[in-house]
Amino acid sequence: MDTSALFKISYGLFVLTAKGKDGRKSGCIINTAMQVTSNPVRICFTVNKANFTHDLVLESGRFTLSVLSEKASFATFQRFGFQSGRDVDKFAGFEDGFQCGANGLPYITAGTNAWLSGEVVQHFDVGTHRLFVADVTDMAVLDDKTPSATYTYYQEHIKPKPQAAPKPGAKTKTVWRCRICGYIYEGETLPPDFVCPICKHGASDFEKVEVEI
Ligand code: FE
Repeated sequence: MDTSALFKISYGLFVLTAKGKDGRKSGCIINTAMQVTSNPVRICFTVNKANFTHDLVLESGRFTLSVLSEKASFATFQRFGFQSGRDVDKFAGFEDGFQCGANGLPYITAGTNAWLSGEVVQHFDVGTHRLFVADVTDMAVLDDKTPSATYTYYQEHIKPKPQAAPKPGAKTKTVWRCRICGYIYEGETLPPDFVCPICKHGASDFEKVEVEI
């Protein structure tokens, strides 16, 4: 079975934002969201259950989804994807990068082309992730010209290129590098149940590489 077939499914990229009862807001990057019905306007999305934003959506039943465009910067992925809202306020120092909709939830204004706010109508525990089904309550287009970023576009154009191969004769060591965020796991063997501490992707998203010491 060639699991790389999964990479042929195209995905968008989104910043999912939510706010807890205590007013604390957070957001994370997700790559699975789609419209499921047009009457009512209903979408679904999945989010990793380990993410703080997951807890906020589950608790409040409300969220906003900002659609990342091909103008999205890597810094947006670092801010929302490579750190946990449990540890940091992801909106600190980001005053120029977001606005709040009528529901009080932030939507991202830089590198996005639309946002949709909604209320959860059903949710399903699907293992590592939770699938939320939601009615859209408000939405707007921010940029009519720039296409949405696909996951493939992110890999090819937004994510920085990895370091060059070691020079011939250089001393090297074997490490495992997360294809998603670049996190390095040191060691010859990557445990099959390993989860990236930065972006929460599993062992299948790691590649074995030789780096110079
Ligand atoms: Fe990672």
